[in-house]
Amino acid sequence: MDCKRCKRCGCFFVSTNDVCPKCELKDNSEIIKLRNYLDNNEVYSLDEISSNIGITQANLARHISSDEFKNVYKNLNKNSLAKGFNNISISL
Ligand SMILES: [Zn+2]
Repeated sequence: MDCKRCKRCGCFFVSTNDVCPKCELKDNSEIIKLRNYLDNNEVYSLDEISSNIGITQANLARHISSDEFKNVYKNLNKNSLAKGFNNISISL
């Protein structure tokens, strides 16, 4: 296996994940928060989600670009355009 650099804390670790085992726990709890938030709110921008649930934009972008949230991302773009927000861009 390759040595990778954690996308959250920057430490080096050996795994197939993007984050180290320590940060994986944080990722998981953020994803649960995100899921709950998206179930109960209509969202227009990453900014809004980020400040409402306290996830940094970088981490949020990472979560929302996963398969689970692909449709959310699409809707987000649509909604944000309709509301006059700048189109969000996520580099995958
Ligand atoms: Zn880490």
